[in-house]
Amino acid sequence: MADIFSKDKRSDIMKSIKGKNTKIENITAEWLHSQGFEFTMYDKELPGKPDFVLPKYKTVIFTHGCFWHGHENCKASELPATNREFWEEKIGKNKERDERNRTELEKAGWKVLTVWQCELRNASEAEKRLIYLVNEILDPGDDD
Ligand SMILES: [Zn+2]
Repeated sequence: MADIFSKDKRSDIMKSIKGKNTKIENITAEWLHSQGFEFTMYDKELPGKPDFVLPKYKTVIFTHGCFWHGHENCKASELPATNREFWEEKIGKNKERDERNRTELEKAGWKVLTVWQCELRNASEAEKRLIYLVNEILDPGDDD
């Protein structure tokens, strides 16, 4: 496991995290690319238009903003105090849709992975998350 993260790679990730406008899907895309994974992005044919599709591993990856996708137990997903009902309904619908997409994808035999915004918020968190992501992709795991 240790050698999957070369020194160069580490500094690449540091760099991409530091760029304030770097979106989580860009960070993830660079990472997957650097690890030699082949993928397509935003496949309209699949439920939820997954951010990443890795056909060889029958895996899709969603990168989710914590607020809009209602990340459980996450500070970044706290709803505004005003218009509470509006937000609860809106985010609730997003979560339902995410869940539906996941179910459909899994029924069709896809492994569904999610990278949350907060997991990439700084370089050391991101490093851990992205290494783990590779494990998740490679894990044949027929146990769920
Ligand atoms: Zn979060």
